Amino acid sequence: MKETSELTGRASNTPEAKIAICKCKESKKLYGVRFEKDGDGWKYTWAFPIKEDVARREGYDTTTMVGMIHPDEEYPGCPYCGRRTFVVCGDCHKLSCNIVVGNTFTCDWCGMTGTISDYEGEGISSGGDLG
Ligand SMILES: [Zn+2]
Ligand SMILES: [Zn+2]
Repeated sequence: MKETSELTGRASNTPEAKIAICKCKESKKLYGVRFEKDGDGWKYTWAFPIKEDVARREGYDTTTMVGMIHPDEEYPGCPYCGRRTFVVCGDCHKLSCNIVVGNTFTCDWCGMTGTISDYEGEGISSGGDLG
């Protein structure tokens, strides 16, 4: 009989969940999105308006995720404009509502303008300056 045992694996079936901060492309306001681990990727299940100081206090501005993302059937969409999909910036890796005019998109977080292509799960970050 060993005196010290190691517990491996999960005690419960609760999936790993994270909150990432997104910026609404239409209203320029912030909201939080709840992501749940789902296989190799993440499914997003819920969105709620959030203030910058609350996001910081809760540590939501340090969230990072790698993997593909997809909406849960119940996902309500952006609390401001209702969009259910995101653009992930290739430069700062932050999330914005997917409102694309023409072939280009400007990231409201870092100001980068570029063309839109398929996201391949490189990584999402809601860190850094939320302003
Ligand atoms: Zn929006
Ligand atoms: Zn950016």
